[in-house]
Amino acid sequence: MEQVKKRWSLEGKTALVTGGSRGIGRAIVEELARLGASVYTCARGETELNRSLSAWKVMGLRVDGSVCDVSSSSCRKKLMEDVSSLFQGKLDILINNAAIVIPKPAEEVSAVDYAAIMSTNFESGFHLCQLARPLLKASGQGSIVFISSVAGSVGVINCAAYGATKGAMNQLTKNLACEWSKDNIRTNSVAPGFTKTEMAAGFFADEEILRAAIARTPLRRMAEPEEICSVVAFLCMEAASYITGQVIVVDGGVTVNC
Ligand code: NDP
Repeated sequence: MEQVKKRWSLEGKTALVTGGSRGIGRAIVEELARLGASVYTCARGETELNRSLSAWKVMGLRVDGSVCDVSSSSCRKKLMEDVSSLFQGKLDILINNAAIVIPKPAEEVSAVDYAAIMSTNFESGFHLCQLARPLLKASGQGSIVFISSVAGSVGVINCAAYGATKGAMNQLTKNLACEWSKDNIRTNSVAPGFTKTEMAAGFFADEEILRAAIARTPLRRMAEPEEICSVVAFLCMEAASYITGQVIVVDGGVTVNC
């Protein structure tokens, strides 16, 4: 029984979750911490981050964090220095979750929009993996999870650049699995479908688009963030120790509905 409990627990693990102040990232922080991990998180907005940090403290969860814009190379470097010093040079779990969406027809995406989407959603994850690699290797059982999207594998209108970052992330998941398994670092992605967060509220501001999205989803509803974070937590456990290079779709069936 004890062995089973250990395989389904994150007790004693350390984790970095980007973009944890709200939405799916916040749910991931809470899930990992409730399962026993010590978690560090970041976001750009200080007020919202501090509100979340205070709530976690009240809940008795081991969560720390700081303001960091993951699209900036100097901020990423400082973030990883802080994480390394807090967790004494070892990191078990890296969750690349922070992302933005700027819903627009492809022909209207400006150079500034494009650069912001690429650097926040894809480049940040790529470079954070590079920076975290020595810490993940030192842990002896590192797990990276990218939060991708169904938009990374199927066509979605007004998501040209966003979907491209998620498609690139899915490929990076496979490539890193091939390169870093030798150090027992596993790399997987979770690709959510429509999930109730601030990002989705912006994307589905038009009620008609939301109704159509739900009608296309076999489970006929959006996901709750908790339904995404449980899969993320599983991938970080010893119970998932033979899973690497995979993109796990959590979408209420929308991508299999033709
Ligand atoms: P939210 O917008 O609700 O939350 C995003 C989080 O990331 C916030 O904490 C935000 O804080 C942070 N963030 C954004 N940009 C940066 C940055 N440059 N540096 C640091 N932190 C940043 O989004 P969701 O929770 O909906 O999305 C989470 C993940 O799930 C994303 O990768 C998204 O692509 C993916 N996803 C979401 C879906 C959905 O329907 N909601 C569907 C499919 C995938 P702040 O703004 O203060 O920086």
